[in-house]
Amino acid sequence: MRAEFPQAVSWIDQIPLKKWTQAYDGGKRYGHMTTNLVESINSVLKGSRSLPICALVKTIFERTNAWFVEQATKMQCMLRAEHEFPDDIVALLRKNEAQSAMCHVQRYDRENSVFDVQDMLTIEHQRYPITFTVTTFVAPVFSLHNILKAYEVQFNPIRNQDYWSTYMGPNFLPDPIMRRHQPGRPNTQRIRNEMDDSIPNKPKKCSYCRTEGHNKSNCPHKQA
Ligand SMILES: [Zn+2]
Repeated sequence: MRAEFPQAVSWIDQIPLKKWTQAYDGGKRYGHMTTNLVESINSVLKGSRSLPICALVKTIFERTNAWFVEQATKMQCMLRAEHEFPDDIVALLRKNEAQSAMCHVQRYDRENSVFDVQDMLTIEHQRYPITFTVTTFVAPVFSLHNILKAYEVQFNPIRNQDYWSTYMGPNFLPDPIMRRHQPGRPNTQRIRNEMDDSIPNKPKKCSYCRTEGHNKSNCPHKQA
């Protein structure tokens, strides 16, 4: 990079390394260690990338709006079904709960930060079961109430062109030399990974309220 593009390198040298490299960020900056967030947005905008620019912008706007309306509806349904957290968090807690069933936990402070954990099989004295609520382990930011807040903002429809203010900027014309001549859609560059595969025999849950036994078309928690 330094040999080929010295200008680019001197620009990026002005930005502290910890702001843009995982190696120097001190660990877990923003908590995003994977591309999962991008994968979510990719699935929302699936198929739109090969559209012409105006259609692309319109599609991103419309799908993002639809996504927000849909997500807010889902969070409300889950809350009406009396769920407190998203079900993948609950599933993780249940799994950890099952694994910890044979452990004895001795608490050492009132703030719940110092513990002595012993395997139940090695304890001879009587056990004192301590029960915690799930809220002790899940940061409030992951509660359905708080997730709903992220999707509560509403988009406004784009008004008819007659209401738009007069455009004063430059006009752009497409360059015919830049046109693609091969027929059909360009090949996708995307690399598939294990996140693209679904888990077989997973019980079906309603996509709105995340409860088994019905689906979103007959969800009792969805109100018109
Ligand atoms: Zn439902």
